[in-house]
Amino acid sequence: MSKTLFEKIIDREIPGEIVHEDTHCVAFRDINPGAPMHILLVPRKPMPRLCDATAEDQALLGHLMLTASKIAADQGHGEAFRLVVNNGAAAGQSVFHLHLHILGGRPLKWPPG
Ligand code: IMP
Repeated sequence: MSKTLFEKIIDREIPGEIVHEDTHCVAFRDINPGAPMHILLVPRKPMPRLCDATAEDQALLGHLMLTASKIAADQGHGEAFRLVVNNGAAAGQSVFHLHLHILGGRPLKWPPG
């Protein structure tokens, strides 16, 4: 199967402004930021959507949440940030490699569009 865009960024085949990486995940700035801080956190393990995760992925999903919070703090927005996971095209997902959007640095309204 061909690599997703995010696998290519993880593998340094295409450029990405990487702000964090560890054995389980990589985070890089969104190319079209919706906020002053807009970072995408992706697991190294290819998983198209959150709904494709299984019980086996429980620790990985927990790691992503904790890492997202740490990244927001490292970026100076640890007290006010938003995490978004778009699951499925109808929910706005365009890249089918699970990713958490980490948004912050401006007031964020609710609900999102
Ligand atoms: P989704 O719509 O939830 O799947 O989010 C995909 C995100 O990837 C969007 O916010 C895009 O702006 C972002 N994106 C697309 N191509 C690139 C890229 O090459 N580098 C970084 N972010 C990208």
